[in-house]
Amino acid sequence: MSKVLIIGAGGVGGVVVHKCAANPEVFSEIVLASRRIEKCRQIQAQLSRPIEIDEVDADHTDQVVRLIEKHKPTLVINVALPYQDLVIMEACLQTGVHYMDTANYEHPDEAKFEYKEQWALHDRFKERGLLALLGSGFDPGVTNVFCAHAKKHHFDEIHTIDILDCNGGDHGKAFATNFNPEINIREITQPGRYWENGQWVEIPAMSEKMVWDYPEIGPRDSYVLYHEELESLSKNLAPAGLKRIRFFMTFGQEYLTHLRVLQNVGMTSIEPVMYEGREVIPLQFLKAMLPDPGSLAENYTGKTNIGCLFEGVKDGKTRKLYIYNVCDHAETYKEVKAQAVSYTTGVPAMVGAMMILTGKWSGKGVFNIEEFDPDPFMEQLMKQGLPYTESWL
Ligand code: NDP
Repeated sequence: MSKVLIIGAGGVGGVVVHKCAANPEVFSEIVLASRRIEKCRQIQAQLSRPIEIDEVDADHTDQVVRLIEKHKPTLVINVALPYQDLVIMEACLQTGVHYMDTANYEHPDEAKFEYKEQWALHDRFKERGLLALLGSGFDPGVTNVFCAHAKKHHFDEIHTIDILDCNGGDHGKAFATNFNPEINIREITQPGRYWENGQWVEIPAMSEKMVWDYPEIGPRDSYVLYHEELESLSKNLAPAGLKRIRFFMTFGQEYLTHLRVLQNVGMTSIEPVMYEGREVIPLQFLKAMLPDPGSLAENYTGKTNIGCLFEGVKDGKTRKLYIYNVCDHAETYKEVKAQAVSYTTGVPAMVGAMMILTGKWSGKGVFNIEEFDPDPFMEQLMKQGLPYTESWL
């Protein structure tokens, strides 16, 4: 029986609230706070169970500290934007509350994401006797847990991992992103990067692809991208014999054409430009023009398929395992008024919180999700709407 404070009332935040509300034996009290209280009110109105709502600008530590002191939660679930990670972690340290998130810290002025600054808080969390769980979404999140599961149950050595992320859905718009457009476009316009034999290999954005046949979706062009879980997984799985880890995401030609045009005209830049006497950041303006990812949910059809392909050795024999989840946009809309990209992030966020609040996962310090026992988390995925399939290839 615990009180949880969820910060961020976007697509993912809505799912986290719905799923926490559906598990009252763990989440006995729920507070949702965000920059605009109307967004919290909209989510509150969808629920059959009462929750408290509040307003906070999580760019300011003092505001988050006041919010935590007012509501006194056991755990803060951060599903605002990656820009707020360090502020919310600092507020948790000051108030003595556990922390978790789904995306690693990004500096607003630099399109670069890494765990360095969050990992640097390890000793402070440890000294305070607090747990910070990083990256409890789908990727990072479930994909990391699949890796921990493969290592624990199926391989003596894992040599290669390919994380395969496909959204085979159709929202009917010419161009839209499935989660926060600013964060999404910053991520996919970076150079591609993967880890091989202890080194990072950098390639131009979208320059390497393969076709992968995704179960329940079909063959799709899948491009090598840099994704944040590569940083923690390469470090944590190197002792298990890891030689290479890559991340692939599918993109259609229509999407890539729009993206190329927007890049060519400078609309994806985060460098401010002067417009009619005031500074404007083109990517933030573009975000204002694109559909709110939450608004795509109602008419979304099709499925997502996200998983991991492992090659390695067990008892002296080589083997190849594919673990994946398939999620249907229309089904998730029916259940929690959200599309599958928000759903596949919000459910594992709730499950991660459940692991902490039920004591299944404990520790003092800052940890990535693959550092914990995967079994209770995988068990809950099956029960909470994200069943997985294991397929030997
Ligand atoms: P949205 O943009 O839909 O939601 C973000 C919410 O945070 C909005 O309600 C926004 O408020 C609020 N917010 C933004 N800034 C502040 C602030 N300073 N103070 C308080 N609230 C603030 O994004 P998503 O829901 O799609 O994504 C949420 C998080 O999930 C992101 O960090 C994203 O990177 C992560 N993610 C992780 C994935 C994974 O698999 N690990 C996959 C997809 C997303 P307002 O409504 O006023 O703008």
